[in-house]
Amino acid sequence: MLAAAFASHARAGHTPGRVILQQRDGYVVVTDEGELRAKAAGRLLHEAKEIGHPAVGDWVALSRNPQERTATIHAILPRRTAFVRRAATDSARMLQIIAANIDVAFVVTSMNADLNPRRIQRYLAAAWQSGARPVVVLTKADLCDDPQVAAREIVALEPGCPVLLVSVRQELGLDELRAQVKPGETCVLIGSSGVGKSSLVNAFLKEDRMATQAIREADDQGRHTTSHRELILLPGGGMILDTPGIREVGLVDAEEGVSAVFDDIEQLPQDCRFNDCSHANEPGCAVRAALESGALDPDRWAHFQKLKLELAAVEEKAERVAKDVERRRLAGLQKHYRATKRNDRGIRD
Ligand code: GDP
Ligand code: ZN
Repeated sequence: MLAAAFASHARAGHTPGRVILQQRDGYVVVTDEGELRAKAAGRLLHEAKEIGHPAVGDWVALSRNPQERTATIHAILPRRTAFVRRAATDSARMLQIIAANIDVAFVVTSMNADLNPRRIQRYLAAAWQSGARPVVVLTKADLCDDPQVAAREIVALEPGCPVLLVSVRQELGLDELRAQVKPGETCVLIGSSGVGKSSLVNAFLKEDRMATQAIREADDQGRHTTSHRELILLPGGGMILDTPGIREVGLVDAEEGVSAVFDDIEQLPQDCRFNDCSHANEPGCAVRAALESGALDPDRWAHFQKLKLELAAVEEKAERVAKDVERRRLAGLQKHYRATKRNDRGIRD
């Protein structure tokens, strides 16, 4: 899909790159010739809303200035997934992309801190909204007498979502974690401060450094020598994207998150002949026309549809869980109330 999306940019003489860091005055992009500092082309910034600006994780089309080791970003390739948040300073519901094209979101929580199912659920929902696959990671297993019990509690919370037990201290479960990220895929670690995300990154970074060194020794050109803290290569060919802001993903309304990434797709049905078009075999369907003409990538369309279904399920589920928590809270209050009343009357349990 990337190659197809890039074809027109290649014809324009541009080269591909990936944004790994956003700074106040520009970006850092990784290309096949290493890292370059980059700025967005004036035209790109001028035409786009905030959401159309380059973001960390974006695949972009660049023109390079090799003498200065800088580049200009001319276009952003269609995003497969995106973590979105509402800009903190802006009341006008301005949306920002925190990270694009993330395949796997590790929702990290520690076994010793009290497990907070509701918080985990929020992170899971954020992951689903982004389009990434969530995986729950329970850290510091070495501090827990019976980690399986806690793990079961989380499995019950989100059936079907993998739950991994890890301990950086005992080097436990790290292989299983890596195995979740397929070659070419990108993952992020999200979760509260103190749960052990840096420790995980450091564990992988150490391996990355070692791997890079091995490549450097094998290849005297030193072409692959860049090892950046923001984009860490996993031995299996996956990547960890770990930049400021990603770890504490804020939530926006689920619908908004999807709209931010799939704005163009959401506009399409307006041109279908029938208002209730299911885009299956109705005549005058704009979606099918776009698919046939190649204007709409079939993978993106499939992903969009899947996301819509998942979102509906996540919302329904969040509602159910909230009700359940409330029911249990009330039941607890009632029990407490009855107990106090009995005690008031001098009756003992
Ligand atoms: P972050 O804020 O999520 O990045 O958390 P850190 O990685 O900074 O970890 C917070 C604390 O937990 C540090 O003191 C770590 O040494 C400790 N920690 C991290 N992983 C483990 C582990 O597997 N076992 C134990 N016992 N402590 C850990
Ligand atoms: Zn249609």
